[in-house]
Amino acid sequence: MRIVVLTGGIGGARFLVGVRAHAREIGAEVTAVVNVGDDVRLHGLQICPDLDSVMYTLGGAAEPERGWGRTGETWVVKDELAKYGAEPSWFGLGDKDTATHLVRTTMLTAGYPLSQVTTALCDRWQPGVTLLPATDERLETHVVADVDGERKAIHFQEWWVRYRGDVPTHRFVFVGAEAAKPAPGVTEAIGAADVVLLAPSNPVVSIAPILAVPGIREAVADGPAPVVGVSPVIAGAPVRGMADRCLATVGVEVSAAGVGGLYGARTGGGLLDGWLVDTADSVAEVAGVRTRAVPLWMSDERATAAMVAAALDLAGVS
Ligand code: GDP
Ligand code: CA
Repeated sequence: MRIVVLTGGIGGARFLVGVRAHAREIGAEVTAVVNVGDDVRLHGLQICPDLDSVMYTLGGAAEPERGWGRTGETWVVKDELAKYGAEPSWFGLGDKDTATHLVRTTMLTAGYPLSQVTTALCDRWQPGVTLLPATDERLETHVVADVDGERKAIHFQEWWVRYRGDVPTHRFVFVGAEAAKPAPGVTEAIGAADVVLLAPSNPVVSIAPILAVPGIREAVADGPAPVVGVSPVIAGAPVRGMADRCLATVGVEVSAAGVGGLYGARTGGGLLDGWLVDTADSVAEVAGVRTRAVPLWMSDERATAAMVAAALDLAGVS
């Protein structure tokens, strides 16, 4: 069986740990199509937060408490940059992480596309899952927000990390999306999949930028594989992160039904055949979509693998 997962960073990475565990049990192959909208160039380094979260988590090297970056990280480079007054100073640039960004930036500068760079980095981490960036082209999520009394478009990382999303926010713009092409292998993997899963990632800033690459949404919506999404919202709240702020900005209710409705039924021009919600949301309904309620707390690998088994069952492919 071939499983394709559309995913963001931290939530998606945790989900993929369960996908990989279940896939090993049933002998399935997994391809993750990863958001690149968070990618940013800082201090001359190309940083891909979601690809790195997924790669480090599956490689067993992610810091579980903080949720991003490496275990046993040190911060010498960041401190030294601050002593030069080098901006931005709000970004958490760890020393170990910096090595990843250096290798990536060197390869990109030499002309390798991000997809090949990702494969090369994964050679070290052996994630057990094929990681594909949604696109090799520049695609950045910018946020139109009121900052210091002025309406500006700032990079998603600045909005998220510097302002904690806590500024009047008007909209998200996926800069470069229209001209972007799916990275090699993305639409092929979706077309050859037996099932496509939408990870319980942030729908607005993790999954939407992937779908904004022309050809990806179409490959999912018009493809042969059933599509099942997993709710990132449990009992009216995102388990962690700021999906509530993002959903409010796009005018979607922060509920399992709200997010399911945002994706929409495949029969109605949306994406979903099935929508997995938490047992706390068992009354959630999305028109035209089969819903099922199971525990959705990704507390450990086994609990997450059980979610994946339920998603495949809902898709009718287990
Ligand atoms: P990011 O790119 O690092 O923000 O990570 P993602 O977009 O992949 O995932 C963030 C989302 O994961 C958050 O908005 C949460 O709603 C969701 N999330 C985190 N932990 C859990 C969990 O245990 N269960 C579920 N259902 N969702 C979770
Ligand atoms: Ca992210």
